[in-house]
Amino acid sequence: MTMLDNVLPGASELLPGHVWLAGAGPGDPGLLTLHALRALGQADTIVHDALVGRPILALARPGAERIFAGKRGGKPSLVQEDITARLVELALQGRRVLRLKGGDPFVFGRGGEEVLALAAHGIPFRIIPGVTSGLAALTAALIPATLRGANQAVVLATGHGADGAPAETVDWAALARLGQPLVLYMAVTQMPAIARNLIGSGMSAGMPAAAIASATTPKQRVLVSTLGRIAEEIAGAGLPTPAIIVIGEIVAVRERLLALTGEVAACAG
Ligand code: SAH
Repeated sequence: MTMLDNVLPGASELLPGHVWLAGAGPGDPGLLTLHALRALGQADTIVHDALVGRPILALARPGAERIFAGKRGGKPSLVQEDITARLVELALQGRRVLRLKGGDPFVFGRGGEEVLALAAHGIPFRIIPGVTSGLAALTAALIPATLRGANQAVVLATGHGADGAPAETVDWAALARLGQPLVLYMAVTQMPAIARNLIGSGMSAGMPAAAIASATTPKQRVLVSTLGRIAEEIAGAGLPTPAIIVIGEIVAVRERLLALTGEVAACAG
């Protein structure tokens, strides 16, 4: 009986021929769920994305097989159909399979497509939620996703259209009209076009905006700017990816907190 079994009484076992699709959180192993940690200790094969870092993979059962199914240099090393086919194949071979994705598996992670395929093949599966980077990055950067009096909603959007189509496929005018903060995944390269579209749709160029790179990891970097300037500043600073972009008045809270006390910021990591 491990400590995890005590904490998670009655939790099901990852059985041979089953696939568990789990979120690994934004990067900090401390933000991994206990269910994902337990699955790492049980899986024979771990199929993971580029966003799942070494400190988390190091928690795998010794001897577990690892299959990289992420993107290298923006190009998928395996296309989505191949990843899905691989998961099915591994399950049919009787492996205990953990499909591990950055953040939450159902937020811009194509997890939906993968479980639909597993279900269509009759493969037993389970889904373990994860902490999504869009929310964790804000919190780690001292930016509250919601602030009483400032916003009543938060929009999580992708900077790319479906299948990597250009940002123009997102209805930026509609999002600008909402008057609510926008949290953008996969938006760094498209940021000049996104900012142009939002400003063209009436959002103020002076609206606070921030980019948070490698959130919750030791490499975390936060760049605070405005909607009008952020694309240029990201390029100028050579900000690495992955990064979350957040646009809205909520961004100003970070500076207010930092001005009030450096100690608070230090405690928040
Ligand atoms: N399923 C993931 C998102 C996958 S899409 C989740 O729920 O978080 C990939 C995008 O996630 C990246 O382009 C980036 O915008 C964002 N991302 C993932 N991890 C991140 C991190 N640690 N810091 C900043 N952005 C991150």
